[in-house]
Amino acid sequence: MSATTQHHRVIVIGAGISGVGLGVRLLEDGIDDFMICERNDSVGGTWFEHTYPGCACDIPTHLYSYSFERNPKWSRLFPRQEEILDYVRSTAVKRGVMPHIRFGCEMTHSSWDEEADGWRVETTDGEFTCDLLISAIGATAEPDEPDIPGLEEFTGHRFHSARWDHDHDLAGERVAVIGTGPAAAQFVPRIQPKVGELVVFQRTPPWVLPHPDRPVPGAERLLYRLLPPVQDAQRNLIFALLETAGVGFRTQNGLVGLIERLGRAHLRRQVADPGLRAKLEPHYRFGCKRPILSNSYYPALAAGNARVVAAGIVSVNGNVIVTDDGDRHQVDTIISAVGYRYSRSLLVNRITGADGRTLGDAWDRSPRAYLGSAVPGFPNMFILLGPNSIAINSVIFSVEAQISYVMSAIKTMDKRSAGRIEVRQEALESYIAWADAASEGTVWKEGGCQSYYLDDRGRQFAIYPGFASAYRRRTRKLDPDAYELAA
Ligand SMILES: Cc1cc2nc3c(=O)[nH]c(=O)nc-3n(C[C@H](O)[C@H](O)[C@H](O)COP(=O)(O)OP(=O)(O)OC[C@H]3O[C@@H](n4cnc5c(N)ncnc54)[C@H](O)[C@@H]3O)c2cc1C
Repeated sequence: MSATTQHHRVIVIGAGISGVGLGVRLLEDGIDDFMICERNDSVGGTWFEHTYPGCACDIPTHLYSYSFERNPKWSRLFPRQEEILDYVRSTAVKRGVMPHIRFGCEMTHSSWDEEADGWRVETTDGEFTCDLLISAIGATAEPDEPDIPGLEEFTGHRFHSARWDHDHDLAGERVAVIGTGPAAAQFVPRIQPKVGELVVFQRTPPWVLPHPDRPVPGAERLLYRLLPPVQDAQRNLIFALLETAGVGFRTQNGLVGLIERLGRAHLRRQVADPGLRAKLEPHYRFGCKRPILSNSYYPALAAGNARVVAAGIVSVNGNVIVTDDGDRHQVDTIISAVGYRYSRSLLVNRITGADGRTLGDAWDRSPRAYLGSAVPGFPNMFILLGPNSIAINSVIFSVEAQISYVMSAIKTMDKRSAGRIEVRQEALESYIAWADAASEGTVWKEGGCQSYYLDDRGRQFAIYPGFASAYRRRTRKLDPDAYELAA
C-alpha cells in the first residue's frame, strides 16, 4: 500500500439515488469522513446514464422522491429522466454531499484486510482504505447483451438502450429492437414515427396498462408548496395502493385477475388487427415481469412501418437477423433492450472477502444477503438494493430503509466500540428460508414467465416478498444478535 493511501471511515461505491441518499444521512448523523466513489462524471446513476427518448419513471413523483427532500415542483405525475436527474443533483448540492464525491473513480477491486480490520479499495483514481464499505451500485450497473451468434460482427450500427447513441440518426432507417421490456416500451413510440421500418423482436409480450400520466398544473404545484400535507397525503395514498398491489402479486388473488382484464381491454382497444393482438397477448400472470404503463406502445407497434417478430433470433449474418421460423430481416441498426446483468453484475467479481473468496464465489450464481444487506465472510460491508430487498413500491422507499439500517449498524459499532461487524451464517440462512418460503405461490416465482427476478436455478432473489412497510420495520434497527461484533 502506498504511504499516501487515503483512509476514510466509510467508502460508498456509486452516487446514484442510493449513494447520494446515504451521503445525506451520514452528514445528518455527524459522519463526514466518507468518500463516494463514482465512475461517472455526474451523480444520478440510472437517471444520468439512461437518456433514451421517452425515459421516465413509472412510479408517481410523490412517492419516487426522498422522504427528506419533498419536491412540490414536479412538472408531471410521472417524472421524466431529466427532471429526476436534476432532482438528485440539486439534493446532492443542497445537502452538502457533492464535496464527498470523487467522480471518474471506478472501483476496480476491494478486498478485506484482516490485519487492518478494514477494506482496501482499488479504483481507477488510486487506492483507498476504509473501515466500512457500502455498495450503492444499484441493480442496473451493467447493461446485458443478447447472446446471439454473429451479433458482435453485425455490419450495421448497434447500441444498447442504456447507452443511447444520440449521434446516430435513425431517420428513415430499418431499425431492429431486441427486447420488449420497460425501456423498449418507452422509446419504441418515440422512434417509430421517424424510422423507415421498425422490427421489434419479442420473446415475451409484456403486460401493458393505460398510463395515468399527466402534467401537474401550476395551481396544483402551488398547493403542494403552500400545503405540504396535501402532497404527503398523495404520497401515502400511492404507497397504500402499491402495498395492496403487493398482496395481489404475493397471493395471486382476484386483484391480479382484475388488472389482467384491464390489460386485455387496453390491448383490444388499441390494436385492431387480431393477428397482432394474438402476438401481443401475455400468457403469464400480471406482475411476473415488470409491467408497463403506456398509451403509445401498442399504437406504435400497430403502425404501418412496424412489425413484431415473435420468432426467436438464431443468428446475425452481416446485416441480416435470422429467426427460427427461417425468416431473414435486413436492418441498418440494432438497439438492444434486453436489460441488465443483475446476478453477474460488477459487484460480484470485484469484492474479495475475509476468506479470500469473491462475492461471486460466495453467492454461487444466487445472490443472498441478510435483509438484502449483509453477507457472511464480508465484514464491515453493506449492500444497498441487495438481493431480496426491493419491495413492490418505489425503489427509493427500500433504499431509505437500507440506509437507516446502515446507520443503525454504525451506531451499534460505536456503542459497543466494535471495529468489526459480520453477519452470522444462521441469520442469513433464516432470512433466506423466510424469503424462499414467502416467494412460493407469488407471481414472481410462479407467474409462468422468465424474468430477472429469478436466478438461473429458478430462485426468486430480487424482490422482497412482503410488505414494503414490513421491510422498513425489519431494517429500522440492527439486531446485534444477528451479527458478530468484535473490537
Ligand atoms: C430505465 C430504468 C427505469 C427505471 N424505472 C424505475 C421506476 O420507474 N421506478 C423505480 O422504483 N425504479 C426504477 N428503476 C430502478 C432505478 O435504477 C432505481 O429506482 C434507482 O435509480 C437506483 O438507484 P441506485 O443509486 O441504487 O443505483 P444506480 O442509479 O444504478 O446508481 C449506481 C451508481 O453506481 C455507479 N457505479 C457502478 N459501479 C461502480 C463502480 N465499480 N465504481 C464506481 N461507481 C460505480 C454507477 O455509475 C451509478 O452512478 C429504473 C431503472 C432503469 C434502468
